Parts: sequence; C-alpha cells; structure tokens
Amino acid sequence: MTLSGGCNCGQVRYAIEGEPIRTGLCHCESCRKSSGSAFSFFGVWPRASVTLSGDLACWQSRAGGDRFCPHCGSSLFCWEEGSDEIEIKLGTLDGGPSSIAPGYELWTIRREHWLAPQAEASQHARDRPKQD
Ligand SMILES: [Zn+2]
Ligand SMILES: [Zn+2]
Repeated sequence: MTLSGGCNCGQVRYAIEGEPIRTGLCHCESCRKSSGSAFSFFGVWPRASVTLSGDLACWQSRAGGDRFCPHCGSSLFCWEEGSDEIEIKLGTLDGGPSSIAPGYELWTIRREHWLAPQAEASQHARDRPKQD
C-alpha cells in the first residue's frame, strides 16, 4: 500500500509505504482539542516507511510531540523524539482514510454518547494496555 497526504495549505506533504502497525480512534481530551473534533483517528507506521517534507511545529502532549503545520494549523503527526514509530492523523490522507478502519478505541469513557462503539475495534476505557 502506498498512501500520500498533507496539510490544508500544502506546505507539509508525506508519503507512506506499507501497512500500518496499528490503527485506532482516541476520545481523550488532548486528542479532542488537538483535532478540534470529538475524537482522533490515527494509524501508526514504522518511522522509516514515512517520507516527510515541509516545516512542522510541535506541541509536547502527554502522548508525545504533536506536530502540526505552522502555516494552516492542520494536525498531522505525533511521535516522541528517538521513537522508531510515527502516528499519522488519518484525516490528512489525500482522498480520506476510507481504506483503513480502526483496530481499537481508546478513552471510551470520554466517547460522546451519540457515537456508537465500532464493532470490529477492541475497546479500552483509557490508554492502550502496555505491550510486553
Ligand atoms: Zn499547512
Ligand atoms: Zn487521545
């Protein structure tokens, strides 16, 4: 799978090779605020499979560094310095994320009452359980 995406103004562009490691929805407060919507929809890929161009600004959140376009404000990525993974906000894909479905949901205690749980996605009340 090869995917491409970018911010609203086109200053930031990216390309992804291969399948995501995992995909999810998060209903936590910081995802709600950084997305400006009720939840965020994201996929995580190996950092090496993503090519970026353009300048990014960064806000350090609980989950890591939230990266956004300093010109138009689109929220695109999250990664921690030194991590070999990159989280991509799937709404920034060209043509939308319709080929990708969420594998899990996080912070379901904060899910809006009018949003139904995704039947195919595993449900977590708060953060994803630590993997060994
Ligand atoms: Zn932009
Ligand atoms: Zn979140």
